[in-house]
Amino acid sequence: MSEAKLREEIVRFARSLFERGLTPGSSGNISVRLDDGGWLVTPTNASLGFLDPARISRLDAEGRLVGGDAPTKEIPLHAALYETRGSARAIVHLHSTHSVAVSMLPEIDARNVLPPLTAYSVMRVGRTALVPYYRPGDPAVADAIRGLAGRYSAVLLANHGPVVAGDTLEAAVYATEELEETAKLHLLTRGLNPRLLSPAQVRDLVAHFKLEPWPEDEHGHDHDH
Ligand SMILES: [Zn+2]
Repeated sequence: MSEAKLREEIVRFARSLFERGLTPGSSGNISVRLDDGGWLVTPTNASLGFLDPARISRLDAEGRLVGGDAPTKEIPLHAALYETRGSARAIVHLHSTHSVAVSMLPEIDARNVLPPLTAYSVMRVGRTALVPYYRPGDPAVADAIRGLAGRYSAVLLANHGPVVAGDTLEAAVYATEELEETAKLHLLTRGLNPRLLSPAQVRDLVAHFKLEPWPEDEHGHDHDH
């Protein structure tokens, strides 16, 4: 896809996310990796609802600004996830309400935040990791993401919001939406003893769709790490 087309895609998806209330004010940011190693990134203090394709930040392969407005301050989040997820071509970060709410729950397993509630959450998002709270822009959050060693395409920042990588911008956006819907379902059914997908049903999805492995035991803990 040409850079001009990618700029239009970023604007279109960003507006769609904003208009559905998935990230308020000037929160949230999107990046796309380009074939030359550079990036397109949404600018700092810009609402995702009102982006101008010509003013999207253009970085070179070394991360220097070579066009457009100054980039989001949350660049370190994106850089760390690209660094550890080799196949990632796009990243979406939102301050979406239900995902943020789930990040504050006391019982959360940091290596598998959400139970297998639906097939699409397993297929599109996979396991989601939780990293602790850091002040926005603190470079330590990037170290926390690097510490996950690329095992997760979806990471939830405690008291902040999700960061999700995809092979395409469309895949990253859809996975972020799926994560938010799953967080909402989790909150709606929390305490109601919902019937989860069984381990056999999850194994079937992992095998059929060639997904990354899901923790095997019934409590959802990952004993490999
Ligand atoms: Zn943020």
